[in-house]
Amino acid sequence: MFVDSHVNLHGEKFSDDLSAVRSRAAEAKVSAMLNICCNIKDMPSVLDVVSQGENIWASVGTHPHDAKENPEITAADILAYTDHPKVIGIGETGLDFHYNFSDRKAQLHNLMAHIDAVRESGLPLIIHTRNADEDMEEILTREMKKDPFKALLHCYTSGERLARVAAELGCYFSMSGIITFKNAHDVREIASWIPENRIMIETDCPYLAPVPHRGRRCEPSMVPLVAEKLAEIRGWTIEEAAQKTTNAFYNFFDKAVRSS
Ligand SMILES: [Zn+2]
Repeated sequence: MFVDSHVNLHGEKFSDDLSAVRSRAAEAKVSAMLNICCNIKDMPSVLDVVSQGENIWASVGTHPHDAKENPEITAADILAYTDHPKVIGIGETGLDFHYNFSDRKAQLHNLMAHIDAVRESGLPLIIHTRNADEDMEEILTREMKKDPFKALLHCYTSGERLARVAAELGCYFSMSGIITFKNAHDVREIASWIPENRIMIETDCPYLAPVPHRGRRCEPSMVPLVAEKLAEIRGWTIEEAAQKTTNAFYNFFDKAVRSS
């Protein structure tokens, strides 16, 4: 059984065939998934999708791309959703200085508000970081020293140095279909050594379909292909990859109850 730790199923890309997508995921032995909120304004539709089934959970937060739409966000705005039984994590938040769809000030303010909400709620944090290695290293090091919390660097594609620092700080990592891409040598290298009990897998669907589906709409049924590649990189069997990544998910998102 696999867990897809990062899906975006509430968007229009899945509005026509969500139940078929969910059946294919079940057929592919994807036993659980986490539907990620990318803009706190979308929480009603995020919760609507997760209320339709078992073993699908939600996060609450605002992606750095959308930080500009929530420049004044506070921890209280996020905490308004954290008591919901289906909400098991906070994010995704973080820094994206590759696209810079939001200015740095809004991104930094959003990230700090999410960290405040994490400390207050005890829920873990889902971090997106791209082209922001130095700032992310500085913030994680400073904030973990001040008052540590659980953090996941999702769809990891950043540098080796940030990975080493984050691993040392106890962070978790999640690998997406990118590890199947031909030129992603650097990401595979990092996937080969990060702590084995702190790795999850994800599709980040509808984006980043793994090979051989690259370029098509991605969906949760493709997450076993990520597990297969991770198994190959680590020298694990597919069963070991499934078990380790599933255990990491439930250890990290400990509000999620594993069904037997
Ligand atoms: Zn992301």
